[in-house]
Amino acid sequence: MQTLQELYKIGNGPSSSHTMGPKRAVEIFKNKHLEATKFKVILYGSLALTGKGHLTDYIIKETLKGYETQIEFNTEYKCEIHPNTFDIIAFKGEENIANWRVYSVGGGTFKVEGKKEITVPDIYNETSFYEIKEYCEKNNCDLYEYIYKVEGEEIKPFLANIWESMQKTIEKGLNKEGIIHGKLNLNRRAKGLFEKKIENENEVSKQNRLLSAYAYATSEENATGGIIVTAPTCGAAGVLPSVLYYMKKIYNISDENIVKALAVAGVIGNLIKTNASISGAECGCQAEIGTACSMAAAACTYLLGGDLQKIENSAEIAMEHHLGLTCDPIYGYVQIPCIERNAVAAMRAMECSNLAMILENDRKISFDVVVETMYETGRDLQSHYRETSEGGLAKKYCRNKYYNIDMQE
Ligand code: SF4
Repeated sequence: MQTLQELYKIGNGPSSSHTMGPKRAVEIFKNKHLEATKFKVILYGSLALTGKGHLTDYIIKETLKGYETQIEFNTEYKCEIHPNTFDIIAFKGEENIANWRVYSVGGGTFKVEGKKEITVPDIYNETSFYEIKEYCEKNNCDLYEYIYKVEGEEIKPFLANIWESMQKTIEKGLNKEGIIHGKLNLNRRAKGLFEKKIENENEVSKQNRLLSAYAYATSEENATGGIIVTAPTCGAAGVLPSVLYYMKKIYNISDENIVKALAVAGVIGNLIKTNASISGAECGCQAEIGTACSMAAAACTYLLGGDLQKIENSAEIAMEHHLGLTCDPIYGYVQIPCIERNAVAAMRAMECSNLAMILENDRKISFDVVVETMYETGRDLQSHYRETSEGGLAKKYCRNKYYNIDMQE
């Protein structure tokens, strides 16, 4: 397992696998071949099918600004290794001087075929929740203490900075109004939700309204290319921050404790990233929103005083009930179903945490088993449910007769 610094990344939305990953890879490749006069990028699979909506071509051109750049969308070739694959080729004049095959594996992380040295090394010896739990029990330490021990002191300021960035994004998003760019003409909703006055509003309604407002705020920032933190991806970036922000505001939790909760959430995300996938193109939305919900539930349980068993239980419940969730973004934008889905997952994360806190510790399903199941389920999903915009809502979407606008199917 890699450092949490490879999981939480601050960057521009709307998609970690379609913008952040390609941007990072292209940047490194460019810097290795500054003598090049021209670059060609060929996008395959999900990158080719939803790259336009996710701004992949735009970000690549921006990264290669100053160079002649050709981008090709190849929707025919299906790469067996990963659906988010692209080739980048450097030319000097007409001569091909270098090329990489890159896999954008989710959360802004990428791998280059045949180049192990480009991949960030693993630093954790334990690779399952079971092993981590065993370590913590043997050494009588909390989960966050285990993470601090493996990662070293530098992880604390890193996580504090991540938390700061998450809060800034929420506060920015809560103050914006207007239409989100793109053909859907979607209204920003965060501010309206946050400011809505409901007479005699009960506690449950208030909790859901605020959690949703925070989740919308981040996700709307993401959809408009704003700065967000991958948690674990851009598309699912609204879930964890909204739960933490809500906990801070309502329960008066200190930033120091929130940073510990971020470490707890991080190890959950990291386990899923290592043992399964956090890529919607590889395993559907269960891998993105399901993971974000698991991370947020674990963080919330830690903040509520739950022990290792409770933390595991809440993360497991959160993932179990996202199994099979498909990825079908309309027009390839990270808008519908993505923005609302972040709000729903934030509410669900708190429910999973509350449930885990009151259940007996006699569950039959472990976190490791549900992660394995998610991966297998994801690999079984047909490709049109894995970020290709060829199935589900993306296919059926129509501004139908109820809205008196043309059918799109
Ligand atoms: S549907 Fe889910 S996985 Fe797909 S782009 Fe939206 S948030 Fe990401």
